Amino acid sequence: MNDCLFCKMVAGEIKPQLVYQDDDLIAFRDIAPQAPVHVLIVPRKHIASLNEAKPEDAELLGKLALAAQKIARQEGIAASGYRTVNNCNADAGQTVFHIHIHLLGGKRLVTPFG
Ligand code: AMP
Ligand code: ZN
Repeated sequence: MNDCLFCKMVAGEIKPQLVYQDDDLIAFRDIAPQAPVHVLIVPRKHIASLNEAKPEDAELLGKLALAAQKIARQEGIAASGYRTVNNCNADAGQTVFHIHIHLLGGKRLVTPFG
């Protein structure tokens, strides 16, 4: 995916502020944080959105959730609490079309169910 911002980060062409990485995913601080902790968890594999995920991606999707758990602990917000968000397509406000999970915490979050 030549023109994908997050693929460029996975490839090391653009260097975000990484907080975690492993064989399957990278995680880095959002450039426009909406909470004291706002980390994006991004699989190395390009999947445009949840709509494009396939049954064979099930394990990878599970790993994204477990990475959120691990990073929440690392960031010190596991006990206080946190929210994970996936935006899919226009009505959810998706702007980067490489699937990712937002990990938000460090304050009392307002409801996202708008
Ligand atoms: P979404 O709107 O769910 O697609 O989320 C995309 C997120 O990527 C937004 O929260 C942006 O602030 C964030 N973002 C865009 N460009 C960068 C960047 N260069 N480094 C870190 N985060 C970014
Ligand atoms: Zn991509």
